[in-house]
Amino acid sequence: MGTIKTALQAVNSHIRAAEASCQRPAGSVRLLAVSKTFPAESVREAFEGGQTAFGENYVQEGVAKIQALADLPLEWHFIGPLQSNKTRPVAEHFHWVHSIDRLRVAERLSAQRPATLPPLQICLQVNVSGEASKSGCAPADLPALAAAVRTLPHLQLRGLMCIPEATDDEAALRLQFQTLRRALMELNQGGLGLDTLSMGMSNDMALAISEGATLVRIGTAIFGRRAPMGNT
Ligand SMILES: *Cc1c(COP(=O)(O)O)cnc(C)c1O
Repeated sequence: MGTIKTALQAVNSHIRAAEASCQRPAGSVRLLAVSKTFPAESVREAFEGGQTAFGENYVQEGVAKIQALADLPLEWHFIGPLQSNKTRPVAEHFHWVHSIDRLRVAERLSAQRPATLPPLQICLQVNVSGEASKSGCAPADLPALAAAVRTLPHLQLRGLMCIPEATDDEAALRLQFQTLRRALMELNQGGLGLDTLSMGMSNDMALAISEGATLVRIGTAIFGRRAPMGNT
């Protein structure tokens, strides 16, 4: 079995190669290591390999890991679906949330963010595939959601996130990444100054980087395959 540190090095070299192949500056894409379902010791090993930003999908699991690793200077991103009755621990423990698709959840996070902490960094999740089953705000509703989220005092709106359709069709994926990038450009033409495009996972990171990703969310390629949970 390959070690986490070795896999992490390989992922970082893939990212650098993808940046270079589309003439993007080295280091313009950040790596978020998605540690969901893996134990705190795996996160510690990745940290020893130089990784500091980690993503979690489930509130209880994420908070338990954050507490177990409180001795390390880590940055924690919540990337899973978030129900409005589970916002408090996220507001109290995480640094970023990528999965905001409605105002109610954002309002609660802002109200529950402790005043002693810096603002929670926010990406709005956009449904770029149009699949009815997908979370994410419809592209048409995005300007109003962004404008409202921007006024919340304990949040800082940083950008957009998407999970494209599960397909090997490169052209379809490319169009969906372009939809997210275009949505970010339109918000920025309105003066929002957003700097984050959270898109790309283990199977499509090079494509996402060629379409402008600034942060890729990588689980399997670093930590290995997850045990099936009936829920990714
Ligand atoms: C699990 C997950 C990832 C990581 O996916 P891999 O294919 O394992 O790299 C990225 N983003 C989100 C939102 C996820 O739920």
